[in-house]
Amino acid sequence: MNFKHSLTALAAAISVTAGTASAYSELDANADKFDKTVHSYLQETGEAATVQVINGKALLQGDILVGTEEDVKTFGIEPLVVRKANVSDTPDTYEQDGAFIARSSWGGKTTWPNGIVPYEFAAEYPKHLREKMKTGMKWIEEVANIKFIERTTEKNYIHIFEDGGAYSLLGMTGGRQPLSYTDGYALGTTAHELMHALGFMHEQTRNDRDDYVTIHWNNISDDWKGQYRKLGSYSLKHGSYGYDYHSIMHYGGGRSMSTKDPKFQRVIGQREKLSEGDIKALQSAYGKPEAKVTNTAPSLSLSSSSTSLVAGSNYGLRVRVSDGETQASQLTVTAQSNNQAVLANYDISVKPGRDSNERLVMLQTRQQTSGGKASVSVQVVDGHGYSTKHNFVLSVSPKKVTVTPKPTKPTTTTNVNATRTSSYKSFITESNKNLCLDIKGGSAKASASVVVQPCKTQYSQQWATFSDGTIRPRQTTSLCLDINSKNQNLTQLNKCNGQNSQKWNVNGKFIKNASSNYSVLDVFYSHPYGQGAHVGIWPKHGYNNQQWNLGQEPVQKVSSVADVYKHCGFGGYKVSLKPGRYTLKQLQAKGMKNDDISSLKVSAGYEVVLYQHDQFNGWRKTLNSDTSCFVEYGINDHISSIEVRKK
Ligand SMILES: [Zn+2]
Repeated sequence: MNFKHSLTALAAAISVTAGTASAYSELDANADKFDKTVHSYLQETGEAATVQVINGKALLQGDILVGTEEDVKTFGIEPLVVRKANVSDTPDTYEQDGAFIARSSWGGKTTWPNGIVPYEFAAEYPKHLREKMKTGMKWIEEVANIKFIERTTEKNYIHIFEDGGAYSLLGMTGGRQPLSYTDGYALGTTAHELMHALGFMHEQTRNDRDDYVTIHWNNISDDWKGQYRKLGSYSLKHGSYGYDYHSIMHYGGGRSMSTKDPKFQRVIGQREKLSEGDIKALQSAYGKPEAKVTNTAPSLSLSSSSTSLVAGSNYGLRVRVSDGETQASQLTVTAQSNNQAVLANYDISVKPGRDSNERLVMLQTRQQTSGGKASVSVQVVDGHGYSTKHNFVLSVSPKKVTVTPKPTKPTTTTNVNATRTSSYKSFITESNKNLCLDIKGGSAKASASVVVQPCKTQYSQQWATFSDGTIRPRQTTSLCLDINSKNQNLTQLNKCNGQNSQKWNVNGKFIKNASSNYSVLDVFYSHPYGQGAHVGIWPKHGYNNQQWNLGQEPVQKVSSVADVYKHCGFGGYKVSLKPGRYTLKQLQAKGMKNDDISSLKVSAGYEVVLYQHDQFNGWRKTLNSDTSCFVEYGINDHISSIEVRKK
């Protein structure tokens, strides 16, 4: 049947049986294709029923294939029951006789196991119809866990062909089951017929339909009355949801049917899209769609076209990935430089971006760089193993940013013994709020590096600002946060000397060094996870590794007893002592042996004074909790008592 002829016939059919152009039904659309009406009966009740016949196939409600003409005449119409397939069923293992609409095959209809629907197009099925059918499949695949796959060897599958109309069997019947779709039908009819094949009935056959639509029996010829029978009690959709005028499975109105609420009269029979009710029904029977998988590499875009950089500065590159997934969370982003002198691989780091589709690639060229070009390759691998690569050339100009602190001569007015202008606080990095400015090794001494470490209530992590602009650690106020004189990107502690390299301006979250207009306190990303990373100065770029939160003064938890550790660190033990003075004898009574006191540590908030020959001219040593492990060899014979006291 050619297209033009179909259209004409279709228009004629609608003009007779349907009142409005928007109302659509496959029953009406098939009307001119029916060869005859055949009388049959419902097996369940024995009730008389009529079916329409196209090419020897009996259709109920216009487009639901229920058997051959001979079958339905002889055996009646089987119950339109669709059960849910077992989870363990697969199209390959689900056993059916599978003969083409043989009576034995269309009992025991099910949903398609695991939502996998193998199909094949008839060899002569034209390309434009294949595209339309695939569109219908896509509508369904997008909203439910259903996959239409091209059949290879599967036993149970849909055979899509042109048989002079649009029809389908109900549910998976087993074997090769026919689905006909041809020219002259709505695009949405593809989804409509596929939904029949998935097990769904017409909406207007629900048992409760008389509350929502009126069937005008007087306008329906006797031969057609059977097509408006209520048969919906078994349907996958019916009963679970409210009546759905918008369903793609609803027939259109007209002389034969009208909605109780007139505003829905033009809604019923839509074939534009799946309704929300259709989607719920599909999901109820088959589950929600799995995360969409693209079978292509993710597409990658870089935020900035600027690829020139001045030596000594750094650069943040936003990498956005679209992967056909709304959330491309499983991304591995790596970047490499081909010229380590210009840009070393360890100076490239990848940080989280603003959302799961974005990463920030940080490039930091070292100040010592003499300039040159490096080809940088950014590679992204998505959660499905697909990868994509983007290369760009980074030009680094040798012109140096003036970050070199120009030491100024100490002036006589510099108050090295300045007064404290803040309480002691932790400096928490914005890039990782679990990390605090700390002294490498934990003890304040000249030239000790400054790093970030997990925040603890340790004095080595407590800093205060002073009236001369210095930042000094709680452990000792004779040392100041300073710029490393050898590597001027790094910081360290040095004896306070009043120079600009020790002067800091805390402005909001940025801590700027007085010796440079550009440089602010910065966590270097050279160390995994930032823990232990060096803290240096770097031109201000605004990322969160340059931002600091001046935390509250940590509360020292002081217990009522001091835990004094002996042999801290290697197989020692601890004794818990209330504040007081203890002779060796008393200590022995508490479990401390006097023969091998070589190292001691005391818990936070306490200090311990070791007295040697305290009755005579012995020495004393004070240990406090800041001393992580006091070690003194050769004192074991000489300790005469220990005093524990709160600080
Ligand atoms: Zn239908």
